[in-house]
Amino acid sequence: MSLVKVKDLLAHAQEHGYGVPAINVFDYNSIKFAAMAAEEAKMPLIIQYFPGFDVHAPLIDIRNIAVAFARRATVPIAVHLDHSKNFEIAVSGLGARFPSVMVDGSALPYEENVALTLEVARCAHAMGVDVEAELGHVGVGMNLEDMTNTDHFTDPDQAVDFVKRTGADSLAIAVGNAHGNYIRTPELDFDRICKLREVLDIPLVMHGGSDIPDDQLARAVRCGMSKFNIATEYQRAFYNNMKDFFADESNSGAYFKALRALERPCIDFVKSKIDILNPDHYQL
Ligand SMILES: [Zn+2]
Repeated sequence: MSLVKVKDLLAHAQEHGYGVPAINVFDYNSIKFAAMAAEEAKMPLIIQYFPGFDVHAPLIDIRNIAVAFARRATVPIAVHLDHSKNFEIAVSGLGARFPSVMVDGSALPYEENVALTLEVARCAHAMGVDVEAELGHVGVGMNLEDMTNTDHFTDPDQAVDFVKRTGADSLAIAVGNAHGNYIRTPELDFDRICKLREVLDIPLVMHGGSDIPDDQLARAVRCGMSKFNIATEYQRAFYNNMKDFFADESNSGAYFKALRALERPCIDFVKSKIDILNPDHYQL
């Protein structure tokens, strides 16, 4: 019975100097392997779902499976709805009883981002649901401009105003990170991370955590970042291991056997992220 709130889980991580992977799941297996990794590593984890995947699985179904695994776990596991780009999607997450939702107004002009985040936060908080927001804009890793143009990065003074006015519980920041595959190795702006950590008291979130080199992830944790979204690399782990399995002709057609064969490497992948994000080897 260890379903916990994202807010509480991240407060604990921040206090004890470790980072938490937020694993983007897409089906039963991806939820199961992530939960098993947390259990084996004996560390907290966040399971999250991108609402754009609802064409494959409705929000409520993924929420229910994730919550069931979290409740059975002996370690703290939180469940979160990723990137709601408008009010309707965020509210559909509340309707599907996600205990935490992200509202991402980062592509909007500043005042509109404040207004959208505040609107979602008022509804969510009235229902006891946590809210992650985004300021600065985390773009896509295949666009070099998104990774390097500091005009898109999070401004510390604006972040203070934003958090005060919206009541967001955690903040996704743009510091040289980006979504999906990176066109070149990211170089995080650690001075900016440290400054944001200094001026804000809520947990900081790294989107685009896939393929950021281990030493930079560890350094971001030491600068005080808490939540690290992992989507691209997790899907790649499924793909690569499935491909290897079926490269063996004798496995042809054995789809269930393939799912079983994915289990160990996918669990080990998540455990490796838990480990990298815990540079000082904190133990629960
Ligand atoms: Zn994101």
